[in-house]
Amino acid sequence: MLLPDAPQPQSPICSAKGCRADAVWVLVWNNPKLHTPERRKTWLACDEHREHLSQFLGVRGFLKEVLPFAEWTPTEG
Ligand SMILES: [Zn+2]
Repeated sequence: MLLPDAPQPQSPICSAKGCRADAVWVLVWNNPKLHTPERRKTWLACDEHREHLSQFLGVRGFLKEVLPFAEWTPTEG
C-alpha cells in the first residue's frame, strides 16, 4: 500500500554516507565487541557502494553475508 504522505517511507536507501540511491543489497554484520554472536546488524547498499561497504566491514571482521535486498528476511533469527 502506498501512502504518499507518510513521514517515513519504507523505500530502502543506501547506507553509504551522502548516498541517496535505492538500496539493492543488504550487508549483514556483527561486531563481536558490541553484539552477542546471534545479533545481526544490517546496512543497505546500492550497486555502487556494495563493494566499499563490504570492505569496510570485511577488514574489521564484522561482515557475515551480503544478500540481494529481495532475498533478505528482516525477521530472521
Ligand atoms: Zn550508495
